[in-house]
Amino acid sequence: MPGTRLKSGSMNGVMDEIASALSDSVNPCDRVAYWSLRWSLARGQLTCSRCQASQTTRQGAEPFLHRGACPGNDEHRYPFQELAALLLQLGTTGSAGISPGDWRTARQR
Ligand SMILES: [Zn+2]
Repeated sequence: MPGTRLKSGSMNGVMDEIASALSDSVNPCDRVAYWSLRWSLARGQLTCSRCQASQTTRQGAEPFLHRGACPGNDEHRYPFQELAALLLQLGTTGSAGISPGDWRTARQR
């Protein structure tokens, strides 16, 4: 079809570009941002934003089962452990710009 330039996956393409820039960053804040692009966590249910497969917090120690040919199969087998490692980094790295004191202040608001 002439003139049809919008591919159905174009939005995902942009998201993937942003995601790959964030995933290459050494800043823990960026890496948490990357994680949150890839996953949605609500009511104890973790859902892959690409294949919509989900896992509950109780299954956190088990490998995540993506659907079909989801790229997450290669990247993210233990998303809860990834998140745990990232949050630990955030809480212990000064370069993240968030100190435990800031965190307490933020929670009181
Ligand atoms: Zn997936």
